[in-house]
Amino acid sequence: MNRSEMISNLKRDQGKIRDIIVIGGGATGFGVALDSITRGFTTLLLEQADFATGTSSRSTKLVHGGVRYLANGDIMLVMEALHERGLMLKNAPHLTSNQEFIIPLYSWFDVVKYYAGLKFYDLLSGRLSLGKSYFMNSARTIEKLPNLKEEGLKGGIVYHDGQFDDARMIISLAGECINKGATALNYFRVTGLIRNENGKISGVKARDLISDEDYTFYTKVVINATGVFADSVSKMDDPGSEATIRPSQGVHLVLDSSFLQSDSAMMIPKTDDGRVLFAIPWHNEVVVGTTDTPLDDISLEPKALDMEIEFILRTANTYMKRPPARKDVLSIFAGLRPLAANPSNPGATKEVSRRHKITISESGLVSVIGGKWTTYRRMAEETIDRAMEAGFLEKRKCTTSHLNLAGKDHGVNTGRLMIYGDGLAEIENIIKDDPSSGLPIHKDFPFTRAEIIYICRKEMPVNIDDVLARRTRALLLNARASAEIAPEVAQIMAETLGYDQEWQSAQVRTYRELTGKYI
Ligand SMILES: Cc1cc2nc3c(=O)[nH]c(=O)nc-3n(C[C@H](O)[C@H](O)[C@H](O)COP(=O)(O)OP(=O)(O)OC[C@H]3O[C@@H](n4cnc5c(N)ncnc54)[C@H](O)[C@@H]3O)c2cc1C
Repeated sequence: MNRSEMISNLKRDQGKIRDIIVIGGGATGFGVALDSITRGFTTLLLEQADFATGTSSRSTKLVHGGVRYLANGDIMLVMEALHERGLMLKNAPHLTSNQEFIIPLYSWFDVVKYYAGLKFYDLLSGRLSLGKSYFMNSARTIEKLPNLKEEGLKGGIVYHDGQFDDARMIISLAGECINKGATALNYFRVTGLIRNENGKISGVKARDLISDEDYTFYTKVVINATGVFADSVSKMDDPGSEATIRPSQGVHLVLDSSFLQSDSAMMIPKTDDGRVLFAIPWHNEVVVGTTDTPLDDISLEPKALDMEIEFILRTANTYMKRPPARKDVLSIFAGLRPLAANPSNPGATKEVSRRHKITISESGLVSVIGGKWTTYRRMAEETIDRAMEAGFLEKRKCTTSHLNLAGKDHGVNTGRLMIYGDGLAEIENIIKDDPSSGLPIHKDFPFTRAEIIYICRKEMPVNIDDVLARRTRALLLNARASAEIAPEVAQIMAETLGYDQEWQSAQVRTYRELTGKYI
């Protein structure tokens, strides 16, 4: 992953007609880019910020069928997602894991209801099941979740789903796309669409936000994979196009692991607003969420509302013996769901199906919106299939269902460094050359200087938050501690990438302002 090398190649080939240009570097965009390059199509992906800055780094980190969607009767969606869950755990074993969940229950009616529901969930997962659901009595439930309130507890239902590191998954997908010959650039905003003499879209105008240079790229088909921003790209195509997205904000709080004291996750099946709430162990901490708040503003850095934070704490406190307070929160992150707008009931978001939608405009813009992280591969397959059916591309078979993303080094070492896939060997070499670089960079984080050096060399970070928010997850895990290591990380970036002192100071200042949104 080398940004300047890819830009030099682009400059050389500016007049070339590519098969596919993808706008958006989240799960949807990278799913499409990987599907496209592995079918042998020339592929260019452009992302206006860093890869995964949008919703795709702010999920609940579940690779799941969606127990909640089962309650809504959306069985086809659950079956499709359970199938993709199985494929994702097989294809990305370095970033995913089988996670045990416990639903604590305080009435026998609920025990019967959730037991039956989860048995059905198991059945739907078929051959790709991650483990059987079963009932546990209250003593065993407390043994597994020691911070759970005991009064009135009847027991717990255990079930399995997948868990993953969402932003690292994007970095892995980006590396895979680039290794296979695609070009994928961060900080490259698409500013307009180009049409040919027949009024069909034939390319994009884009700006490199780092150098402020403008480019024009030509292609057979443009895929709009911009999540909550999809309408703004559709308006570049047709300024009169109707709004199709209703953003809904979801917030998560990160707490110290002592609030769960368990390797099992907890799922609260019914909150005051009729949703579910998860408390999930993640990178030595606990992620608790989420909310579902309809919003009008669309931003790359959405901010949690006080009422959302209070709602999560209040719900957690109903179940936790030692309740978390605002001062215990290590980080707060918010993300926006790109839900399809429902003109007859614009306020309702939790009822809106999480299924994706693919549309093709009259001038040929292919848009893919909605969906789930878990189904990114399937969404991509359908999107490229639709582009082929529409005659933009010749027909070729999809090959991603068994494409391993872990790299050849997977299995050599099962430790934490596996998240770097084939980068593991290089990190070990950096530590061999300088053993002190193998020590954790901060007492609250497991990652080392060697990892930061590797990230700078091989994972294309441009700004300090690219390292601290998405390539390591420091900002999301502990926002204050991440601000403490910002100067050291800026220094490593400057040494590795050739920046001066002024750059370092400006980066640290901007980063510390950003952490304000996470505290
Ligand atoms: C709170 C929350 C929790 C969730 N939890 C889960 C979960 O646990 N499991 C699950 O399966 N799913 C989950 N989801 C859903 C999942 O995260 C999303 O469906 C998915 O991340 C959407 O990805 P995307 O690529 O479509 O959008 P995004 O990740 O937002 O990517 C779109 C990208 O397009 C870029 N862009 C926009 N305009 C332009 C332009 N003009 N030029 C270039 N680039 C542009 C943006 O910068 C952005 O990075 C959750 C969603 C939310 C909000």
